[in-house]
Amino acid sequence: MKSAQHNTREQSGFKVVCCECGSLSIKMTDLVNAPEDTKIECGRCKAVRGTLAELHVLARSGNDIFEF
Ligand SMILES: [Zn+2]
Repeated sequence: MKSAQHNTREQSGFKVVCCECGSLSIKMTDLVNAPEDTKIECGRCKAVRGTLAELHVLARSGNDIFEF
């Protein structure tokens, strides 16, 4: 059997853990008004972790990884 939820996470380009510094924190700057293609930066080293659209996909999958 295939896990649909697992596949969704695999397809997401958003890096939950920064590949540069290993931090979980992300920079949250005015995301309410930001367009979907806004780049989300690492809260620690500012490496690009993904886009706002990818973050929304991740949030919809039901995880409480980030606190808004
Ligand atoms: Zn980082």
